[in-house]
Amino acid sequence: MVDPRHAAVRLLGAIDWQTEVSGFCRCPGEAFHTRGNGKKDCRVNVDGAPTIFCFHASCAGAVAEANRRLRRELGASPWELRLPGGKVLRSGDVLQAGGGVLPREVVKARARAEGRAAGEQLLLETLRAAAEGFRAELFDFFRWPMAQILEDSPLLVAERDAEDQFRTWLKLWPACATVWIGDVYSSGKPEHRTHFRPVAEWYQIGPVMGNYTCGSSFKAGSYRRSNENLSGHRFLVIESDTLARDEVGAIFAYLNRRLHFTLHAIIDTAGKSLHGWFDAPRSRLLEERLKAALVAFGCDPKVFTYSQPVRVPGAFRDGRLQRLVWLRQ
Ligand SMILES: [Zn+2]
Repeated sequence: MVDPRHAAVRLLGAIDWQTEVSGFCRCPGEAFHTRGNGKKDCRVNVDGAPTIFCFHASCAGAVAEANRRLRRELGASPWELRLPGGKVLRSGDVLQAGGGVLPREVVKARARAEGRAAGEQLLLETLRAAAEGFRAELFDFFRWPMAQILEDSPLLVAERDAEDQFRTWLKLWPACATVWIGDVYSSGKPEHRTHFRPVAEWYQIGPVMGNYTCGSSFKAGSYRRSNENLSGHRFLVIESDTLARDEVGAIFAYLNRRLHFTLHAIIDTAGKSLHGWFDAPRSRLLEERLKAALVAFGCDPKVFTYSQPVRVPGAFRDGRLQRLVWLRQ
């Protein structure tokens, strides 16, 4: 019986195994790294869709090539491993963060149920489990606490007054976009049309119509904040109910520096967390992969509902200003 771990070691060199099937390794693209190497920057998983994950961005080409070789070699013959406790893990099964085994038959059934290719489903399940496994290292590697975010902002925005906050934020939108601003229930009836206005009108009105907006623009004339009325321009607004303002920055940094999503702004919600405004994923496939990882990191799956209300800068929440704390040049 082949052991998938031996094949991984042949390809990558020594592996510091953290579980039966996942360990830290030397990045196959280490020569391309542009900052110092840590022992926990690169990890390999041999279960599910075998994958090498590295936190550096500059090695992506070499890592992609090594991933192709890893999958080719591990896919060549089926294998089985006996886990401590007696469970058996077979090639194509996914070892869950809690130690359970997700059998490959279940992965295939989920793929059929959701109308997805089996390979893509396996990748999503692998990503989900892997993201939970390297969560701690990711928060460490990409650490970006609030004070550093303020200091790093290309434009100094945090001290601007409410009107200025609001108008500065409006500039993120194309001039022709119809944007919703209101309170959570300012939607659904014809009289709510007044909450859906072109950016130029909001510029005149100021931050007085409510505490919320959406990461998406709407069709002109809309009065319902629903996905059918979205009109194309979208931001992905990353939020978390569980991550504090000194933690969630790591997710923003990971998306921006490692996955190359453009970061437009970071907003202090005047609550306990921060919101990051990013370009939306370019395809449904990328969106689903990102969602699998983000949920494992503690982000709200609602971020992928583009008509979800989010805090607008320039409005006050219990006497505290909702404000921009980081803004792209
Ligand atoms: Zn690397």
